[in-house]
Amino acid sequence: MSDFTHPLINNGWFKEVSDELFPGQALELKVKKILHTEKSEFQDILVFESTDYGNVLVLDGIIQVSERDEFAYQEMITHLPIFSHKDPKSVLVIGGGDGGVLREVLKHDYIEKIVLVEIDETVIQLSKKYLKGMAIAFENPKIEVKLCDGFKYLLELGQESIENKFDIIITDSSDPEGPAAAFFQQQYFKLLYNSLNSKGIVITQASENVWLKIELLKNLKNTINQVFPIVKYSYTTVPTYTSGQLGLMIASKDPNAKLNIPERSLSELKEEELFKYYNKEIHKASFILPNWAKNYLDQ
Ligand code: SAM
Repeated sequence: MSDFTHPLINNGWFKEVSDELFPGQALELKVKKILHTEKSEFQDILVFESTDYGNVLVLDGIIQVSERDEFAYQEMITHLPIFSHKDPKSVLVIGGGDGGVLREVLKHDYIEKIVLVEIDETVIQLSKKYLKGMAIAFENPKIEVKLCDGFKYLLELGQESIENKFDIIITDSSDPEGPAAAFFQQQYFKLLYNSLNSKGIVITQASENVWLKIELLKNLKNTINQVFPIVKYSYTTVPTYTSGQLGLMIASKDPNAKLNIPERSLSELKEEELFKYYNKEIHKASFILPNWAKNYLDQ
């Protein structure tokens, strides 16, 4: 079998195509070597070594992370909500089987409780083997991993009990086609709301950006706004996500939360020591949109 034998790899190029998520365009990465292919109980998994972006994890044909640019996503989806909260002590991550978000949460010593809920153990195992820079966090004793569906986990959390609530919930899931479909529905945001402490914050990868399907972003923003008093759109730039950027929706239970302005910040020196992408300026800038997109999303 040749190193390039895979339905999504042609002449040594991996091609990401999705009529649902980004009709009429595609992204290609040059493949050096296929590292793993598998159909798990939940999804099709492909891990390959690319020529220029390091190892790449693909689920159901969609790129999840590449070693070269993953920090742009992991840092923003983690540090935006953490620095938007005055005193966060507990974080729940839904999805996130590559471990990158956990790695970022661990940079905040004051976070006492960290739980990750991943549906597919295979993703965690493969990340430990092929995405070592991300999966490193799984060794940390602070982290509790639950292998189950994130939606069911929230349903069963015992939403009345205070000790089961979180200050921050990060939905680091795959896209709406597949096992993460429920994470884009209103019922999920109700479950999130009830699983948060007062002044709690949620952030979710929006699967889209303003250049792709802005109408889906607007629907998602409205859906979240039917549950949370305040929701804002932010984005991060990631070359291996189609059209180079990915939207993030951040919402708070506190109607006075600013979200686009950090509540706390570190010195520039400390920021440079800890982060490759995030800093207090980019926190604010990531909410600023060009006029057409701003007007459309705020309408
Ligand atoms: N950064 C990525 C992105 O935006 O494309 C997300 C990466 S992370 C690998 C996504 C994870 O969500 C996958 O490991 C997948 O197995 C997990 N996932 C999908 N549906 C899930 C569910 N219902 N419950 C828990 N985890 C889920």
